[in-house]
Amino acid sequence: MKFADSDFEPYRLLTPTVEAVPLVCDSPHSGSTYPQDFQTVLPVSVLRWAEDAYVDELWASVPRHGGTLLCAEFPRSYVDVNRELDDIDPNILAEPWTSEIRPTEKSRLGYGLFWHSVNGRAMYDRKLWVGELENRISTFYEPYHSALWKQIHHAVDRFGMVWHLNLHSMPSDSYAALQQGSERQLADFVLGDRDGTTCDPTFTGIIEDYLSGCGYTVARNDPFKGVALVAQVGHPAEHRHSLQIELNRKLYMNETTFEKSGDFVSLQRDLDGLAAHLRKFIQSLM
Ligand SMILES: [Zn+2]
Repeated sequence: MKFADSDFEPYRLLTPTVEAVPLVCDSPHSGSTYPQDFQTVLPVSVLRWAEDAYVDELWASVPRHGGTLLCAEFPRSYVDVNRELDDIDPNILAEPWTSEIRPTEKSRLGYGLFWHSVNGRAMYDRKLWVGELENRISTFYEPYHSALWKQIHHAVDRFGMVWHLNLHSMPSDSYAALQQGSERQLADFVLGDRDGTTCDPTFTGIIEDYLSGCGYTVARNDPFKGVALVAQVGHPAEHRHSLQIELNRKLYMNETTFEKSGDFVSLQRDLDGLAAHLRKFIQSLM
């Protein structure tokens, strides 16, 4: 984590170091460079709860298996690229938005396009100007989306298909955070294909079997089904397959201190094995 002392690149794009396969991965929430104009009242120690910390690092070997890995550098609490552009809570605005807005349940919980609450704590003691928010869209949201779509289109043009993994991590108390009951047991991995609609179910099955074989518990679409990115990319009829993978943070870090745990490296090794496995699966279709 760091505070930016100047402008910075919105993302990092890691390209294949071996012969490419149409595997495109993105980590939209692991960014931890905090823009100068954030002006939030919350300390970074609280804001970091929103980060999918280290997810980029956990999947860092994807390019060595022929895939592309796109990683956001900015934090999701500043602008969330996994939301539609109209998912804005009107209550955070100092003035009317410039077009029609359609706030979803995420906005109601404080986690829309522009977060206004982290782990139950208000991020601002002020209303936000349209201009500053539009700047977050043009400087971070749009460049991230266009970098992702460039990779998606490139894969489809070159190989006739794309397999997209949208990579995240989730707090171990996610059911409580989602107001879905605190006593339920969260799986180690949650695979989200928006109830079977965003990718060939074979893809989901292969990943589920691989992770179960490593000894992890795996759930589908409970409690996370996938939001804007898998919904936009995942159109199997157009040979675009997209799956969200949520990792339980307790597998690899201390959720209070943000320190990596002793199991970090073994998880990284299992994800490396999964990437190798997916390369073989994709090659069998080419
Ligand atoms: Zn995430």
